[in-house]
Amino acid sequence: MARIIQKYGGSSVANLELIKGVARRAVASKNEGHEVVVVLSAMRGETDRLMSMARGLNPDPMPRELDNLLATGEQVSIALFALACQSLGEKVKSFTGLQAGIKTDDDHGRARIIEITPTRIKTELAKGRVVAVAGFQGFNRLGDLTTLGRGGSDTTAVALAVALKADLCEIYTDVEGIFTTDPRVCEKARKINKISYEEMLELASLGSKVMEIRSVELGMNYGIKIHVRHAHAQSQGTYICEEDTDMEKTPVRGVTFSVNEARVTLLKVPDQPGVAAKILGLVSKAGIVVDMIIQNQSVYHPVGEAGTSLTDFSFTVPILDYPKAMELMKEAGREIGAEKIVGDDNIAKISIVGVGMRNHAGVAALMFQTLAKEGINLSLISTSEIKISCIIEKKYAELAVRALHDAFKLEIPS
Ligand code: ADP
Ligand code: ASP
Ligand code: MG
Repeated sequence: MARIIQKYGGSSVANLELIKGVARRAVASKNEGHEVVVVLSAMRGETDRLMSMARGLNPDPMPRELDNLLATGEQVSIALFALACQSLGEKVKSFTGLQAGIKTDDDHGRARIIEITPTRIKTELAKGRVVAVAGFQGFNRLGDLTTLGRGGSDTTAVALAVALKADLCEIYTDVEGIFTTDPRVCEKARKINKISYEEMLELASLGSKVMEIRSVELGMNYGIKIHVRHAHAQSQGTYICEEDTDMEKTPVRGVTFSVNEARVTLLKVPDQPGVAAKILGLVSKAGIVVDMIIQNQSVYHPVGEAGTSLTDFSFTVPILDYPKAMELMKEAGREIGAEKIVGDDNIAKISIVGVGMRNHAGVAALMFQTLAKEGINLSLISTSEIKISCIIEKKYAELAVRALHDAFKLEIPS
């Protein structure tokens, strides 16, 4: 007997027929002799619908009230799921985040789980019931509802797997697993049988929405075995697990892109100590997370009596924070003496990821040659041990994904 967490995403519970199918699947696992805890997302489109209703009434909704509203989506799903299980003759109990003991901090809209006290879940499992838990939600020290951020049901599932010492965490979704790139963008995308936590973490943080970032982080920190698979097919999906020596043979595991960032550039700022600290200090004080940072070598002629050189300084921020970042930089630019502040939100970040990059030469060169062949210009580049990212014009994002997928022969199983 194993203890299994099964998480079903919004598209997997988009209508009553699909909810029945999900209930049948959970009950089948239970009948194989397992303890089953099911985490459910809101029905497809529901969170967006609730969000747009809120914004229709109030363009700047209070985070606490927004959480009260958004959390209802998942509550509908667990209740319908429980009713479907019951109609199959199965004993079942559903729990909201509060009833499930999922305690978070106070950061409404992007709360972090602090601890889980799964007493009631354990009691119901011991009584032989299937347990359903609302994803994406918890409660803070005041007992107020909180939500975990978009895609947060993945995090609920992995966090429950940790708290309940589950043997396996299954993430059921609308594709057959993790692919070499988003199968909706590249028809040659291929399902990967296993991927390391580290690679999945990079893919998630660089744009692949198939797994939420924090869920992968948790899985990695606690060694939770995660199986990502299709909710309505029996095929084996992708295991997210520890890296093994096999994985290093492939230089690139996947390609991803994100159009959720914007670039801010300060032109001709004095190239002297403290300038970067000043710029980034202001941005971080406003709670804006900076991603890529690049400072050009001083290319301008020395100016002034002290002979200060000038340089350009660029960084990227989430697109939602772009207007604020531009506003802050206009102020900062005046203070530090930048010639001009320019920005661009018409960009995409395209990335390749793979643990094999550590010991394969020429990966960056092939990436840049491939993009150059397509006439795509790179405005920023950043690298880490296992990834290379480039900022390009937004309209080339999908073309770049397909070209890189071909260049690294990702359709061929490794
Ligand atoms: P759920 O509603 O089940 O949480 P999501 O919409 O959050 O599902 O994530 C699944 C989607 O992620 C897929 O439909 C697919 O378009 C997208 N996706 C992006 N990158 C990848 C990838 N590398 N592998 C698989 N799916 C991906
Ligand atoms: N319903 C939430 C969302 O749409 C959480 C989730 O689906 O994971 O983001
Ligand atoms: Mg999701």
